[in-house]
This record gives sequence, structure tokens and C-alpha cells, in this order.
Amino acid sequence: MADIKTNDFYCDFVFSNKVQVKKVKETVNVLAFYHTNPSWTIHIVIVPKKHVASLMYLEDFDLIKEIFRIAKEIIQELKLDEANFKIITNGGSFQDSKHLHFHLVSGEKIK
Ligand SMILES: [Zn+2]
Repeated sequence: MADIKTNDFYCDFVFSNKVQVKKVKETVNVLAFYHTNPSWTIHIVIVPKKHVASLMYLEDFDLIKEIFRIAKEIIQELKLDEANFKIITNGGSFQDSKHLHFHLVSGEKIK
């Protein structure tokens, strides 16, 4: 399988600065920001800066460590664990943007 790169909101808009996002946390390799079209009252996206089409294309699993470390820090800082939270990654037809990303959501579903 070739590494597909179509309909990629992160490379095409976020990392190319065509869309301004409200950053939550950033490291050399990972960016976390508030979803531009949230489905939950708190809806944060955590995304590797390097293009990886989906979990099925991931080779560098150190990225997962970094993503989950950042997720934990955000959960602690926003005290999401006192309410609720979940972390989701999508694949196949569930995945709209073909760049690996994790949704950190909390509160209530709003759409
Ligand atoms: Zn990408």
C-alpha cells in the first residue's frame, strides 16, 4: 500500500498555516489544538507533525508515547478526569482526514 495523502486537513491546512488553530500543547513532534468543528463540549485533536496516513501506516511508535503523554498532561491540566474523557482514533471509512490523529473528548456530545 502506498502512503496515501488525500483529504488531509492537517498537512494541507493546519501545518501549512492556512487555518489558524487554538493550540493546547505543542512539542517538536506533536501538536494538540481545539477542534475547529467540535462534536463534544471539549474536543481536542492531537496530531503528529510528520505525515502518517493512519494508525495502519505508523512505524515510529515513539510517536504514540509522545501523543499519550501529551494527552495525559492535557487531561490533568484541564481536570478532565474529574468529569470524563475518551481518546479516539479512526480508520477506514470512519477516518475523514487521512493523517493520523487522536480525538481527546470530554463533556457531552453536541452533534
Ligand atoms: Zn498529513
